[in-house]
Amino acid sequence: MTCFRILLLSSLLLATASGTAQSSNPSGPPVSAQARAIHDSAIVVDTHADTPQRFLDEDFDIGSTDPNDVGHLSLDKARRGNLGAEFFSIWVDPETNQGHFAQHTFDLIDSVYEQAAHHPDRMMMSFSVADIQRAQQEHKLAALMGIEGGHSIENDMHLLRDYYRLGVRYMTLSWSNTNEWADSSGDVNDPKIQHHNGLTDFGKQVVLEMNRLGMMVDISHVADKTFWDAIATTKAPVIASHSSARALTNAPRNMTDDMLRAVAKNGGVVDVNFFSGFLDQNYWNALQAQKAEQAAATRAYLDKLKAEGKQITYVDDDRITREWMAKIPRPPFTVLIDHIDHIAKVAGIDHVGLGSDFDGVSGATPAGMDSAADLPKITQALLDRGYSAEDIRKILGGNVLRVFKEVERVSRELQTQPSSK
Ligand SMILES: [Zn+2]
Repeated sequence: MTCFRILLLSSLLLATASGTAQSSNPSGPPVSAQARAIHDSAIVVDTHADTPQRFLDEDFDIGSTDPNDVGHLSLDKARRGNLGAEFFSIWVDPETNQGHFAQHTFDLIDSVYEQAAHHPDRMMMSFSVADIQRAQQEHKLAALMGIEGGHSIENDMHLLRDYYRLGVRYMTLSWSNTNEWADSSGDVNDPKIQHHNGLTDFGKQVVLEMNRLGMMVDISHVADKTFWDAIATTKAPVIASHSSARALTNAPRNMTDDMLRAVAKNGGVVDVNFFSGFLDQNYWNALQAQKAEQAAATRAYLDKLKAEGKQITYVDDDRITREWMAKIPRPPFTVLIDHIDHIAKVAGIDHVGLGSDFDGVSGATPAGMDSAADLPKITQALLDRGYSAEDIRKILGGNVLRVFKEVERVSRELQTQPSSK
C-alpha cells in the first residue's frame, strides 16, 4: 500500500518538469528460454500485495481469469509468472477504521483464508519456510500474511500474539500514519502529529516480542529514526517488505544508502517496491505537482459518496486515484531493475528481494510490469546485466527465505530462554 491518502493531506512540494527516459524496449525485454528456465527454477517470493482489500471490498475471487481485470494478482497471473509465495498485506486504513482496527484486521485475515479455502488445489495457507517449500512442490501458491501498520495491535501485546497465532508472519511497524509507539515517514514532518523520536519503550518491546514469536520486523514506511531504533533493538534480521532506494528516487519512503548498509549488517533484506513514484524521480515530482489538485478532487468525490450515505472503502479511493496516476507517463521497465541493481551493489547480493506492492499502487507500475505474470521479465533483465543464475534466484526469493529461516531460528532460541515476565 502506498501512502497517497496521507500524502494527499500533507504539504505541497514544488515540482520539476516531467520527462521519461526512453530505452530501446520501454516495456521490458522479451523473455528468452534461458531466462524462463532460470526463473522457473527459483522459488519466487513477493513480500507485499494489497489484494486483500479487493477480497473484502470487491468480493474479488483470486481464481478470476477475467481478461479485463486490471488487478495485478490472480492465481492465473501468479502461475504464469511462477510466483511461489505471496505475503498478503493486512492493511487497515486508520482513517476509515477509527475505533475498530482489530476487527478490520481480523476481517482481512479471514478474507485471505477464505480465498485459500475456495482454491485448495492451487493455493495454500503457509506459515513457515517449510510450508513455502511444500507449496512449491505441490505447485500451489503459498499464501502468507503481513500486517501493514502497528496500529492494528491497538497497543496490546496480547493482540500481537493472537495475530501471530492466526498466521501473521511480519508486521510493518508503522504505515504512513505515526501510531502511539512508532513514528512514520508519512507524517514525520507534520507538526500536528504527536511524535516519539522513533520507537517508544513499548515500541521496542513490540520488536523484541516479534523476535520471540518469530514474526519478521518490517521497517518499510517507518521514519528514519524509527528504522535506526528498530535496527538497534532487534535480535533477528529485519525486512523492508516494500521499499526502494532513496539515492535514485528522493522519496521519504525510500531507503538511504546508509540504511541499506545497516540492513546488510543486520543480515536482513530490502524488497524493492514496484510503485512508479518510488522508482522514478520524474514520476515522483509529477505526483507532487498534482497533489493539491488530486487531493481536492478526491475529497470532493468521497464527500459526495458520504452524502449519498455510502460507506467509503479502499476501492472508492483507488478508483479516483487510478485516474490521477494515469495522467503521469509510466516510466520505462528499466527503472525497476535500476533499483534492484543499486541495492544489490550497496547492500550486497544477499540483501535484495521483491516487494511489489501489487494492487496497492492504483496501477502505477513501470511500463511492462502489469501483473505477476510479468515477473519473468525481471529475470531476463538481470541476466542481461550480467547477474548469474544463482544471484538471480537469491533476488527472486532466496534472500527472503534465508531471512525468514533465521527469524524462525532466533525465535526458537529466544523461546528456550527463561521469560523475564
Ligand atoms: Zn505500503
